[in-house]
Amino acid sequence: SAEQARATASVYQIGMDELHLRQIRITSRLQLALHKGGFELNYQPKVDSSAGDCKQVEALLRWRDAEMGQMFPDEFIPLAEHSGDILLITDWVIQEVIRQQLIWLGKGRYITVSINLSAHDLLSKTLVDRLLGQLAHAGLESHCLHFEITESATISDPVAAIAQLERLRDAGFRLSMDDFGTGYSSLSQLKLIPVQEVKIDKSFILKLDEQETDQRLVRSIIDMGHNLGLSIVAEGVENEASSRLLTAWGCEYLQGYWYSKPLPPEALEIWLDDFENK
Ligand code: C2E
Ligand code: CA
Ligand code: CA
Ligand code: CA
Repeated sequence: SAEQARATASVYQIGMDELHLRQIRITSRLQLALHKGGFELNYQPKVDSSAGDCKQVEALLRWRDAEMGQMFPDEFIPLAEHSGDILLITDWVIQEVIRQQLIWLGKGRYITVSINLSAHDLLSKTLVDRLLGQLAHAGLESHCLHFEITESATISDPVAAIAQLERLRDAGFRLSMDDFGTGYSSLSQLKLIPVQEVKIDKSFILKLDEQETDQRLVRSIIDMGHNLGLSIVAEGVENEASSRLLTAWGCEYLQGYWYSKPLPPEALEIWLDDFENK
């Protein structure tokens, strides 16, 4: 009935208003977190399948806000993209990773860290110069950082994004195509986007051990990537059966809860020591 429709509409309206309010609140708290603290990085191991060791991790952002509690990047990164705060967040992440790497180096640990970049970062005219400045200031070289980008981050302005990626590559940073297989034209994009590595999206990996279609897809992505001279990472490896399949198929790096969830730095150090002594 019309009455029901109106009731549904108003419930929907309330839902939307609440969501919108939450988004506005998060966006305003972002600024506070940047200035007063609240962000942290966790690090997830990326295991070398043939060597059976781990020298690389991915930095993943965490945010605990005094009023709003724990928030995850899938919610606040898109809002930061929208507000433009993402550039400041990326700056913070890079600075924090460098600070952490200096601590690790001081303990005799050499760990390469992958950093996620967003669409805005790919259009920033100053990203590469700032990055090189920050590294030089710390006395680090560009091979200690890798960058992960998604195809969707290149879509709004592909020419500018590709030029940025070429600058990053020429400055010595290794680049990885994240969430591979989820876009519309992933295969043809690999011809244009200068990455050295493909990271197969976790949606193809989570049930790999059970799903034959995923197995076929993943094998062909690995073969195709290898034919293009790229290394392959699988994310979302949650069980031993999947890790064995991927290793047998020559997938170079494995990441996922089977090995470890993303960890605070001290917990990562303990994990790395255990893993080495296994
Ligand atoms: P992503 O880059 O694709 O990161 C992988 C996500 O999968 C992470 O979620 C990670 O915690 C989760 N994951 C890892 N292993 C497994 C597994 O075995 N099973 C399952 N189900 N999930 C697994 P997280 O940390 O919540 O990050 C979500 C997304 O937020 C990231 O997706 C990335 O797009 C974005 N993000 C995170 N940190 C940053 C950052 O510092 N900067 C930017 N621009 N984006 C970030
Ligand atoms: Ca990533
Ligand atoms: Ca991913
Ligand atoms: Ca993702």
